[in-house]
Amino acid sequence: MNSNVKVGRVSGIEIGLHYSWFIIAALIVFSLVERFRQVNPSWGRGETWITALFTAVLFFVSLLLHELAHSLVAQKRSLRVSKITLFALGGVSQIQGDATDAKTEFWVAIAGPIASLIIGFSCLGIAVGLVWQRSTEPHTAVTGILVWLGYINISLALFNMIPAFPLDGGRVLRSILWAVTKNASLSTRVAAWVGHVAAFLFILDGIRKYFSGAGFGGLWIAFIGWFLLDAAKSSNTQAKTTAGAVRGMRVSEVMSRGCVAVNRGMSLQDFVDVCLLRTAQRCFAVEDDGRLVGLITRRDVGSIPRDRWHRTTVRQAMRPLQTLNTVTPETPVLDALKLVVRYGVDQLPVIANGILQGIVFRSQLVELLRTRS
Ligand SMILES: [Zn+2]
Repeated sequence: MNSNVKVGRVSGIEIGLHYSWFIIAALIVFSLVERFRQVNPSWGRGETWITALFTAVLFFVSLLLHELAHSLVAQKRSLRVSKITLFALGGVSQIQGDATDAKTEFWVAIAGPIASLIIGFSCLGIAVGLVWQRSTEPHTAVTGILVWLGYINISLALFNMIPAFPLDGGRVLRSILWAVTKNASLSTRVAAWVGHVAAFLFILDGIRKYFSGAGFGGLWIAFIGWFLLDAAKSSNTQAKTTAGAVRGMRVSEVMSRGCVAVNRGMSLQDFVDVCLLRTAQRCFAVEDDGRLVGLITRRDVGSIPRDRWHRTTVRQAMRPLQTLNTVTPETPVLDALKLVVRYGVDQLPVIANGILQGIVFRSQLVELLRTRS
């Protein structure tokens, strides 16, 4: 999902359109023009096209709202979201790292379908308010748009709730299994298995429909099944390779040792002159009588205005130990990786018996993962 057009940012999340989205957008506009022409032959050419274009734009907005619902709930639960990409079959929110508990997984997954349902029913509700009678074809442009958006959003919510991993429904299923069995990897396997079965049912049903005369509609269903199967497979292998690549490895094998220590009473100006500018070190341990009390990095120094450096001590600028996520030399690398991703930190101090043993950097972990997988 990399080749895409950036359209903006919401709450720090980059919004992008994959090129395949433009194809589907064009198809939607053409089919809407066709539909509006049949239902409302009295409309002028301009009115038909403008209504169709406007509907397609609002459809895009409602897809985006579905993804934003996932992303904002994820952010609320302190997961990092880097971007949302809309492509031919919907949207993907790139949430960094998996939820670390069943509740988070459940709410992040269900937020999207809930948003779509709310949008769907609101559109239909407003259409009814504007004298549209249910089970008739809408005859004004505004009700036409609202009714189409209403049904499409409700369908979107229902489709996404099919319990096929990695669809939202699959994630909801996984989170419920996880909450009940307390076993995350078993839940993933069961949800993935249900996903495979659902995908095969789609393919079989599509082929059956195709041969009994449904034509393109049948092929489309089979295609969705194939897409689900492929997605289930790749999400399964992805989880396996990440975990497999670093299985059995401990933090002590990858951490940087020989961390330079500075005294907490040193002024920031001295620290910059003596330590920061003269070594390639990125992160320094702050000590008090040989005891680790915090960490100080280039970024911490940068957050303090330069004219205050000589009046500020290292202790005032550092991040105190209590506020840091720490690991021990025995911590599995996979757990360290999860911490880094979950809290968005660049480094984790490695501590044993109150003494700093080393530091694991985010960049080291990323490099390790890249090399090993
Ligand atoms: Zn979703």
